[in-house]
Amino acid sequence: AKESGRSAFAFFARQMNEKVQSVVRLSNDLRYAIDRDELQVYYQPIVDADTLETVAAEALVRWQHPRLGLVSPADFIPIAEDTGFIGPLTEWVVQRACRDAGQWRQKNDRELRVSVNLSNRHRHLENCVSLAAASLQQAGLPREALTFEITESFAMEDVERLQAIRAGGIGLAIDDFGTGYSSLSYLRRLPADVLKIDRSFVSELGTDADATMLVGSIIAIAHGLRMRVVAEGVETREQLAYLQAAGCDLLQGYFFSKPLPNAAFNDFLDRHSVS
Ligand code: C2E
Ligand code: CA
Ligand code: CA
Ligand code: CA
Repeated sequence: AKESGRSAFAFFARQMNEKVQSVVRLSNDLRYAIDRDELQVYYQPIVDADTLETVAAEALVRWQHPRLGLVSPADFIPIAEDTGFIGPLTEWVVQRACRDAGQWRQKNDRELRVSVNLSNRHRHLENCVSLAAASLQQAGLPREALTFEITESFAMEDVERLQAIRAGGIGLAIDDFGTGYSSLSYLRRLPADVLKIDRSFVSELGTDADATMLVGSIIAIAHGLRMRVVAEGVETREQLAYLQAAGCDLLQGYFFSKPLPNAAFNDFLDRHSVS
């Protein structure tokens, strides 16, 4: 028993070591991912709940690793945060998103908006905002065309800086709402104009009475605070019907479309154009 215990430990240690090494290697590779053209921005449509017309898209980064294939942002964003690469990465996404959104607007003659996720570990908010202003101008877009998504864990100390962003005209959305620990007073102080209800509530609509009640209440509170509401992770017709009945403003999820490469998103806009 002692022997097998020891070898189990050796096995565990080896696994740990491999894991650490792979994170080190990944963080190293990530530094070159932009220059090597391995990052891509995908876009997921956000539709108006009443008309089902696409009015915006969320930019979601993808990493096509030369050996490992597609690496999920859930795996590499935390590494980017730990290594400080999150700054350059976010700035790159902002530039791409503005450039692409400028083209959508030109081709579609519609006021499409784009949203970009900001990490709460992003220490250079100011860089990001001035870069966003330049990118928007270059793409011929008004400030309102861009929205930053932040989560409830975004530090309260940053709220003043967020207020400055909002005052400049860029939109601000609270992402994954309901999964953090924020109080109503936090919600009231945040200068956000959009609230995104987390997928975990939406997925239980109609099957879990508490989740269904909470979605209705969150929508009512958000509207009371003059925010528009996006439901995330809409996958079924039943969820769509619930959300429409509850007065949700905007919808996002696989029911409409998965995140798409820019070319495929453009095709999606063509197919769903109201002419
Ligand atoms: P998020 O901001 O909550 O983004 C929504 C995630 O839910 C996306 O996963 C999207 O593909 C997925 N999703 C959308 N609709 C559905 C649905 O109907 N069903 C299900 N099961 N999933 C759905 P993705 O693209 O893998 O991104 C994961 C997370 O990685 C994002 O969560 C966000 O926190 C982070 N992330 C992605 N891109 C960026 C980025 O450019 N910057 C930063 N800081 N974080 C990013
Ligand atoms: Ca998001
Ligand atoms: Ca989310
Ligand atoms: Ca409505």
